[in-house]
Amino acid sequence: MYLHLIFGDQLNRKISSLSDLRQNEHIILMCEILSEATYVKHHKKKIAFVFSAMRHFSKELKDEGYNVHYTKLDCPNNSGSFRGEVSRMIKAHNVKGIIVTEPSDYRILTEIKKWKEEFGLLIEVRADDRFLCSHEEFAHWVRGRKQLRMEHFYRQMRRKYNILMLGKEPKGGKWNYDNENRKPPSKHLTIPKTFSAKPDNITSEVLKLVEVNFRDHFGHLKPFHYAVTRNQALRALKTFISQRLKNYGEYQDAMLQDDAWMYHSHLSLYLNCGLLLPLECVQEVEQALKEKDIPLNSIEGFIRQIIGWREFMRGIYWLKMPEYEQQNFLNANQKLPSFFWTSETNMNCIKTCVKNTQDNAYAHHIQRLMVLGNFALLAGLRPTEVNDWFMVVYADAYQWVELPNVTGMALFADGGILSSKPYAASGSYINKMSDYCKNCYYNVNKKNTVEGCPFNYLYWDFLIRNKEKLHKNQRLSLAYKTLERMDLAKHNLIKKDAKVFFQRLNNGQKV
Ligand code: FAD
Ligand code: SF4
Repeated sequence: MYLHLIFGDQLNRKISSLSDLRQNEHIILMCEILSEATYVKHHKKKIAFVFSAMRHFSKELKDEGYNVHYTKLDCPNNSGSFRGEVSRMIKAHNVKGIIVTEPSDYRILTEIKKWKEEFGLLIEVRADDRFLCSHEEFAHWVRGRKQLRMEHFYRQMRRKYNILMLGKEPKGGKWNYDNENRKPPSKHLTIPKTFSAKPDNITSEVLKLVEVNFRDHFGHLKPFHYAVTRNQALRALKTFISQRLKNYGEYQDAMLQDDAWMYHSHLSLYLNCGLLLPLECVQEVEQALKEKDIPLNSIEGFIRQIIGWREFMRGIYWLKMPEYEQQNFLNANQKLPSFFWTSETNMNCIKTCVKNTQDNAYAHHIQRLMVLGNFALLAGLRPTEVNDWFMVVYADAYQWVELPNVTGMALFADGGILSSKPYAASGSYINKMSDYCKNCYYNVNKKNTVEGCPFNYLYWDFLIRNKEKLHKNQRLSLAYKTLERMDLAKHNLIKKDAKVFFQRLNNGQKV
C-alpha cells in the first residue's frame, strides 16, 4: 500500500503525486491541520476557502472511486500535525512508502525529509510540475549572471513555451507593454463585479467550523463567495477573460476607493491552491487575442505576471531559502503599527486597503505594493513582522510567493537580489493612481507639517536615513540629486516631521 499525501495547495487531479495510483494499492491522505491554520493566524476567509476546496477535491476523488482518507479539523482522532496523521495511517495500514509532490513551503519540505528516518519508509518527493520552471532550470538560468532580472527570465519563458511569439520575435514587436499599463483611474469606469459562487452544503459546514474555531483570527468570514471547485474556478477564469481582461492592462496600477477588485483577475488564490494551472490560464488568455477584441497590452501584461513574476518569485524563494527569511538589508526595526490590523488610521489609502483586506482576504497588487508595502518600506517596519502580516491576511498567501514579494519587492530587504531599486514613492504617486487622497484627513499637496501627507516627508526621510546604502543605486540617482539640492533647513524639516510622526506612532496615537 502506498500513501499519497496531498497538501491543501495541491488540489489538482494532474498533481504529480497522483499520476500513477495503483488500483487497490493506494490510500490518498488529506487532512485539515490545526497547526497549519494557526502557525500564523490566517484570515478566516482563507481557512474557509482552503478547507472547503480540500473537502470538495476529496469528494471528487472519492466519486472517481479512489480510496481517500480525509481527516476533518474536528475529527476526534485528528492529531493536529501532518506527521501525526501520516503516523496514524502507517499504524492502521500496511504502508510500504509515502508519495508526495514537493510541498511549496520550505518548512514542510524540511519536515518531510525527516520522515524517512523516523518512519523507516521510502519517501518519494516528486517535482511540482504545475510550475513552468523547475528548480534546476532556474538555477541554470541564474548561473553566471551578475543580476537576476525578471524581464530576462520572462523572455526565456516566452520562448520556451512559445507564448506570444512569432517565430523568434515577440508578437507585436515588443516583449513588454508595461508603459501602456499605467493609466490613472477615471470616475466613469464601469467595473464588472468579481466572480461569485454561492456556498453549498460543504462550504456552509466549513463556514460554521471556522466561525467557532477561528473566531479570533483576522478578517471577516462573510459574505463568502470564492470558488471552491475546479469547475467554479474555471468559470472564474472565463468570466475574467470575457469581462475584465480588456481593461486589465491599462488600469493595472489604478486604485479606487469604492472598488476593491478593479480589472484584476482575482485568480491567485485558485492558482496557488491548484484549482487552476498556470499554463492553462496563460493559454486561455493568449487564445483571447485571436478570438476576442482584446488589446495586446492587456494580454501580454497578464501573461507576464504568471510566467514572469510568479515563476521568478518561486525561483528566488527556492534559490535563497532559508537565509531569505532573515533578510534585513536596510536594518529596518520599527514595530508594525496596530492599524495594519484594525484599519484605524487617518491615512485614507492605508485605511481603505486594510479594510478591503479585512473584507475580502484580497487586495490587488498596487494596493499591496504601493500603499501597504510602500508605507512599510518608508517607515522602516521590521521585515519579519511585515512578512507575518502579509502571510496572515491574504487568501493567496503561501510563503514561496509571499516572502519574495514582501522581502524582495516591497521592502528591498534583500538588498536588490530581486529588484533593481526600492519601490518607494511619495503621496503624489498614490494621488495620481487613485482617488484616495481627496477623502483623506491629510493634504497630499503639503510636503511638511502635521497636516501634510506622511508619505511625502517619510519618502525623503527614508532616502536620508538610508543614504549610505542606497545613494549609489543608479535608479535612485535622480532622487538623490533632488535631495542634494534641498537646503539644510528643508532636510531638518523633513527629519523633524518624520520624528514627530514616529513619536505619535510609537505612543499609540492615531496617525
Ligand atoms: P492579477 O493582477 O490578476 O495578476 C494575475 C496573476 O499573476 C495573479 O493571479 C498571480 O498569480 C500572478 N502575479 C501577479 N503579480 C505577481 C507577483 N508579484 N508575484 C507572483 N505572482 C504574481 N501573490 C500571491 O499569490 N500570494 C501572496 O502572498 C502575495 N503577496 C504579495 C505581497 C506583496 C507585498 C506584493 C507587492 C505582492 C504580493 N503578491 C502575492 C503578488 C500579487 O500582488 C498578487 O499575486 C495579486 O495581487 C493577486 O491578485 P490577482 O489574482 O487579481 O492578480
Ligand atoms: Fe494616503 Fe497621503 Fe493620499 Fe492621505 S494624502 S490618502 S495619506 S497618499
